[in-house]
Amino acid sequence: MENQNQIYDFRSDTVTKPTEAMLEEILKAKVGDDVYGDDETVNQLEVMTADKLGKEAALYVPSGTMGNLIAVMAHTSPGQEVILEESCHIYLYEVGGIARLAGVQAKTLKGVNGMMKVEEIEAAIRQENIHFPESGLICLENTHNMSGGMVLPLEEMKKVYKLAQIKQIPLHIDGARIFNAANYLKVDVKEIAQYADSVMFCLSKGMSAPIGSMLVGTKEFIAKARKLRKMLGGGMRQVGIIAAAGIVALRDHGGWLDLDHQNASTLAEGLNAIEGIKVDTEKVHTNILMADVSATGIKVPELVEKMKEKGLLVNPRNESLIRFVTHRGVNSNDVEAAIKIVKEILA
Ligand SMILES: *Cc1c(COP(=O)(O)O)cnc(C)c1O
Repeated sequence: MENQNQIYDFRSDTVTKPTEAMLEEILKAKVGDDVYGDDETVNQLEVMTADKLGKEAALYVPSGTMGNLIAVMAHTSPGQEVILEESCHIYLYEVGGIARLAGVQAKTLKGVNGMMKVEEIEAAIRQENIHFPESGLICLENTHNMSGGMVLPLEEMKKVYKLAQIKQIPLHIDGARIFNAANYLKVDVKEIAQYADSVMFCLSKGMSAPIGSMLVGTKEFIAKARKLRKMLGGGMRQVGIIAAAGIVALRDHGGWLDLDHQNASTLAEGLNAIEGIKVDTEKVHTNILMADVSATGIKVPELVEKMKEKGLLVNPRNESLIRFVTHRGVNSNDVEAAIKIVKEILA
């Protein structure tokens, strides 16, 4: 339980450290210059990824942000419009890269639990008119970070993809946590990826690899993406050193995500039982939860600071919400300790 000086880090699943198996594979990794296509480990990771996602090809990229940016650049032309949910990561947390570097403008729609309504997407697609930009891309985010890691319903994704195909507009999934979504839905990740032309996912979050994300799509798309990655400075050399950990992540993540989701659910119930704190436990699908602390009478930054003093690290989301994320670095004892700390602060 709660030890002095112990840190309980619920800020993000990005804080996960590599497993022993990853470190062992890193030592053994066969490497080469990946810009020349010579890194066997990266090549293996890319083949494995494409196969897992049910797509033709894959590209290893340094970060999810770069993967999303490359996808937007590869799918669109400058001056086009991208349809996105208004609280998605690409729009909120990627430094406006799609505007500055891809030269596209965002058309945001309000989603319900992170999912935009198909009718609203259809209405947002531009008609041909001399005044209008063209609609160049639709993006979905699954799991949806700002909705507290909620999973988009497969049926809705299918409808949106059908619409995208009819309108001949590509669809990209920001699937930073797509393996969490697949785990929740109890489906193979291919079942989700089938409703998109491209998918980005992170190896460096719940998957526990230290660095890196993957982008998947057709061979043609990935060839284009590879060149854009080089342009953005993301062409790396003996990068099999880190890709080796990615291979282990793809192999070993299943049980970790099961536990992360159980822990999030336990944490949600524990926090929700505390006077002044509200967590919509029905909405805790995966490893993220949003705790509404507005009824505690303590302002979010102050509460976050008090938690920090007791070793509990979390991220403030806005004036009423605090985000907790479970991951391989926190176990069920840490969850109990976190609940106890919050109880003590509010007692
Ligand atoms: C973390 C995240 C990203 C970006 O990944 P980085 O590797 O941190 O750049 C993109 N989309 C979502 C939904 C994320 O949570």
